[in-house]
Amino acid sequence: MSKKSNAKVTVRPNVLLVEDEESFIDALSIGLDREGFDVVVARDGQEAVEEFGAGRFDVVLLDLMLPKMSGLDVCRAIRQTSDVPIIVVSAKGEEIDTVVMLEIGADDYVTKPYRLRELVARIRAVLRRGDHHDDAEGSVEILEQGPLRLELDTRRCFVGANEVKLRKKEFALLELLLENAGRVLTREQLIDQVWGSDYVGDTKTLDVHIKRLRSLIEDGNSPHVITTLRGVGYRYEVSPSASK
Ligand code: CA
Repeated sequence: MSKKSNAKVTVRPNVLLVEDEESFIDALSIGLDREGFDVVVARDGQEAVEEFGAGRFDVVLLDLMLPKMSGLDVCRAIRQTSDVPIIVVSAKGEEIDTVVMLEIGADDYVTKPYRLRELVARIRAVLRRGDHHDDAEGSVEILEQGPLRLELDTRRCFVGANEVKLRKKEFALLELLLENAGRVLTREQLIDQVWGSDYVGDTKTLDVHIKRLRSLIEDGNSPHVITTLRGVGYRYEVSPSASK
C-alpha cells in the first residue's frame, strides 16, 4: 500500500487499519505512512480477520462499528491466535465499556475525532510495551525521562535514587504524560485516560493532581518538567539528556 523507494533500511511497523469510513481511511493511510508506518486497510470485520490471518502486523487499529462483523468480534477472533497490540477506535457518543474492552483483550482505545499525533503516540506506546512481550515473566517495564524513572510492573517511581510514593491516579497520570513526553495531552485526554467515568467533581481534580505530582517530582535537578498549556492541557518535557 505504501511503498517507499528508500535506500536506507528502516523498520516500518505494519499497521492493520480496520475502518469503513473513507475519510478516515484516506487521512490515516497518508498520515501513518508519513509517520513511518506501513498500512494495510480492511474495510469490514470479515476482511479484517482475513487480512490479519494473511499478514504479519505489529499493531491493529480497530474501529468498533463495522460492516459484516463488529469490532468486538474481530478483536476476539484476533485474540484467539495473537497477542498483537490492538487499539480500539470508537465514534464519539458510542459508550465504550472499558471493562469489556479489557476482557476482549484490547490494549488501548481512542475516541473519534482524534488527532493523528495522539493516535501515533498511542501506537508507539503500545509498540514499546509490545517489545517486551517475548521477555520472561517478571521483567520490569520502565519509563525514564531525565532523573525520573517509573517501573510500570511494580508501580514504583524514582527521582534519581529517591523513591517517591505516588497514589494510583498520580502514577497513572505520570505514566501517561511520560509515555507521551514532548507531546501535549489535552485535559480531556488526561481525564478520559486516567479517570474515565470515575471522574467526579469539578475540573480542578486534574490540576490538583498535577500540582501534587510537580511538588513530588520537580526538584532542583528537574525543574518544570510538566508544562501547563493554558486552556489546552499539559506536556511532560523531554529531558535534554534523554533526547537522541
Ligand atoms: Ca465505523
